[in-house]
Amino acid sequence: MADFEIKDLRASVEGRQILKGVSLAIDKGEVHAVMGPNGSGKSTLSHTLMGHPGYTVDGGEVTFKGQNVLELEPDERARLGMFLALQYPVVVPGISMTNFLRTALNAKRGYDGKDKSKQISPKDFRSMLKSELEVLHMDDSFLPRYINDGFSGGEKKRAEILQMAMLKPEIAILDETDSGLDIDSIKFVADAVNRMRGPDLGILIITHYTRILEFIKPDFVHVLVDGKFVLSGGPEVADRLEKTGYAEWGKEEPAQPQEVTT
Ligand code: ADP
Ligand code: MG
Repeated sequence: MADFEIKDLRASVEGRQILKGVSLAIDKGEVHAVMGPNGSGKSTLSHTLMGHPGYTVDGGEVTFKGQNVLELEPDERARLGMFLALQYPVVVPGISMTNFLRTALNAKRGYDGKDKSKQISPKDFRSMLKSELEVLHMDDSFLPRYINDGFSGGEKKRAEILQMAMLKPEIAILDETDSGLDIDSIKFVADAVNRMRGPDLGILIITHYTRILEFIKPDFVHVLVDGKFVLSGGPEVADRLEKTGYAEWGKEEPAQPQEVTT
């Protein structure tokens, strides 16, 4: 059995079935890419895995560390070692980035406000933040600001990866972290992710475009169309998509960006 297993997952949104039986096995140390045209169910997969209340599980199983993930609350999934970088990060007025990162990190370490030995020291917290900010080419003026408040699209995506770097998950799902990023930002994000790659982390990169996969080389690529995987293989699957897009499944969408936006 793989470290993280999805079996025949079916899920619906607003009464409409979107995921129609998705199975995927991820071992730590592996990078899996899920590619698919718009509306194929990629974000439904990421939200369902993390326990978003707007998505209903109609069947199937998700197992991680011997636990039935689908029975856990989102925060319990996070404590277990799962992480989701959102496609559309939300603004949270009133909570600064620093406070959020420190509180999330302490919660993950099991600090409940009582046992101070579980708390990260201010010095360790600062040095950890500093080095991750550098890799992402973010300056520390982000830290006192409210979460994502007034951040550009690219800054929001980098802030998601900053959270991942601080929380050190064991299974990370990146939902279109590359969309809306210019090429430099894609490289910074890829550098940060590549730094985290290793035997303790399994990664699921969800993307519409092949471009980020030039920088974060996947071990496996799966193509999601209309809520089902229609093709799985190695990195060559991404090469094939780069040439033909999603046309062979009746979708006219290219798998390469047509223009670079910032
Ligand atoms: P992708 O991420 O691959 O672009 P999504 O998973 O976001 O696709 O969406 C899959 C389908 O589910 C789309 O048809 C979309 O309109 C629908 N959908 C997603 N979220 C909602 C929602 N909150 N309410 C209604 N329909 C939704
Ligand atoms: Mg999406």
